[in-house]
Amino acid sequence: MRSSVSSAPLQIAISALQHFAYCPRQFALIHLEQAWSDNHLTAQGNVLHERVDSHEVETRGQKRSERAVQVYSDRLGLQGKLDLLEVFSENGKPRRYVPVEYKRGKRKVMDWDRIQLCAQALCLEEMRGVSISEGALWYWQERLREVVALNDQLRDQTLACIDNARLVLQSQVTPPPTTDLTRCKNCSLVDLCVPQIVRRDRSGTYVQALFEVEKISAEDDQD
Ligand code: SF4
Repeated sequence: MRSSVSSAPLQIAISALQHFAYCPRQFALIHLEQAWSDNHLTAQGNVLHERVDSHEVETRGQKRSERAVQVYSDRLGLQGKLDLLEVFSENGKPRRYVPVEYKRGKRKVMDWDRIQLCAQALCLEEMRGVSISEGALWYWQERLREVVALNDQLRDQTLACIDNARLVLQSQVTPPPTTDLTRCKNCSLVDLCVPQIVRRDRSGTYVQALFEVEKISAEDDQD
């Protein structure tokens, strides 16, 4: 597994990693240029998160459910909030931790949501001195809980995403549009980004090495 990330003076919001994984330009527009535009997808997602932001702690048998858990990592320069942490005990002692993130839409082929979840788990591991082997994504539209193995491959992807997102923040350069038109179709920033115009005029600085645009399933929405 990747052993370290670049020194981390800049704090990154964990939710921003999902933006970066989806499209580095979207990440920069939101987190460098402070552009934001709600479409119906993000608006629905916001309502869903308001519902789970109750800060309740509930214990049933050997399982404790903690909601809206603040998480951070000094090592990785991350901070954010986890929708739900399930803590399973044996003989009164916590034995297994399962972070759970709620999403509005459907399960995705690509790892955008899994990267966000993995970053939350990395924070929890550092904060609580524990190992976490799996998390879960709960998709509202499908009423589906996806169990996510927090394996070395996903951890490496997540650490690379953190590094590259930080490089964009440090460079202060907004990357060019993704070549994947499907992502643009579902992107809340498409009117602000105007990718079809920017694609025609590539005269801006382009930090090519930072951005490896991934191929994506045509079915994947971001939210
Ligand atoms: S419209 Fe396309 S290129 Fe622009 S931020 Fe969204 S996904 Fe990226």
